[in-house]
Amino acid sequence: MKKNLKPGTLCVQGGWQPKNGEPRMLPIYQSTTFKYENSEQMAKLFDLEASGYFYTRLQNPTNDTVAEKICQLEGGVAAMLTASGQAASFFSIFNICSAGDHVVSSAALYGGTSNLFTVTLKKMGIDFTLVDPDLPAEELAKAFRDNTKAVFAETISNPSGVILDIEKFASLAHRHGVPLIVDNTFATPVNCRPFEFGADIVIHSTTKYMDGHAAAVGGCIVDSGNFDWMAHPEKFPGLCTPDDSYHGIVYAEKFGKGAYITKATAQLMRDLGSIQSPQNAFLLNLGLETLHLRMKKHCENAQAVAEYLEQNEHVAWVNYGGLKSSKYHALAQKYMPNGTCGVIAFGLKGDRETAIRFMDSLKLVSIVTHVADARSCVLHPASHTHRQLNDQQLREAGVSPDLIRFSVGIEELPDILADVEQAIQKAYC
Ligand SMILES: *Cc1c(COP(=O)(O)O)cnc(C)c1O
Repeated sequence: MKKNLKPGTLCVQGGWQPKNGEPRMLPIYQSTTFKYENSEQMAKLFDLEASGYFYTRLQNPTNDTVAEKICQLEGGVAAMLTASGQAASFFSIFNICSAGDHVVSSAALYGGTSNLFTVTLKKMGIDFTLVDPDLPAEELAKAFRDNTKAVFAETISNPSGVILDIEKFASLAHRHGVPLIVDNTFATPVNCRPFEFGADIVIHSTTKYMDGHAAAVGGCIVDSGNFDWMAHPEKFPGLCTPDDSYHGIVYAEKFGKGAYITKATAQLMRDLGSIQSPQNAFLLNLGLETLHLRMKKHCENAQAVAEYLEQNEHVAWVNYGGLKSSKYHALAQKYMPNGTCGVIAFGLKGDRETAIRFMDSLKLVSIVTHVADARSCVLHPASHTHRQLNDQQLREAGVSPDLIRFSVGIEELPDILADVEQAIQKAYC
């Protein structure tokens, strides 16, 4: 593969590189296992002495090829697919944290991530401090403890649309000797490559724009290879001390820049088994082939819808990074000059019922528990994805009770605008 190809070219041609006479399209290796000539060859795989496939719970060639495409798009050194975005978030933390550890996370989080961190991982003994990502660095620094092992945040938060100051978070993390993990689901590497601004690990829910067609749930973890684990061996014993389950290998020594992903594959996939099915990886790859085209259209449409909403008398507020009025406009310009994403957060004047009447009146735009899809869709987080949070927790997550998450699709703009217009009218009848 030629170096320095543009992101759009990598979307189409990254990953699968057929040799002479091989299929043009990525094959689906629909096989749980792989055959070897002798026992010795298989033994070496189990010792991580040789690389190769032996069981799809750990690795599968279709998955690895698609992970490689995402890795190229993000500009990383190693990547793996997971069964879902949730599995990617979980693995990204659990690969370097265990009971007794602590993580600093932006409070502007996807509802599922917030639950994973503050309920499920807390039960496993990992503590999270959720911080307001807009606070100055000196304030954020107060959240760190001796046992802090990572910092986590979303490039563009779901659903509130908070845009992360990646450099502020990266330098803060690095000053405390820990990596910055960024959930880049909404921006996608087409619009933002967090590694260029100091992030160390990127995760994705590939279920969203990457798949783009609401066909397959999936996740991905990409490592920049930039974080020096061995500089902080006391913080990261899992990477810097021997793993008895593989004859005492030390990941950071043996695998260098591939250590983090190798460990997540060899230990977490082995024990927790959250592999993406090769069939889903194939669908994901099809989605990726048009990601650059779709993101452009999502952003164009969303910009126009956000501008329409902003001047509508019934709209109380709109948050979209592309609007000059957004408090995140400067950050959007810096980190995502070509556009942010297709998701707009806004509130209608009135009460909860007004929001519900608006959504129920939409015809083209549908109510679904999904976002970042080719088809326009809406959701009311306070009634749906974030309904486990009380009003106080909602506000801390940047989700006001009236927030409508409008995921603008790639249909023709006049049809989307007409639907929004008639639904707003009906909401006030
Ligand atoms: C949807 C989503 C997730 C979770 O991904 P799943 O694929 O649904 O498990 C994580 N982060 C963000 C930003 C999301 O939008």
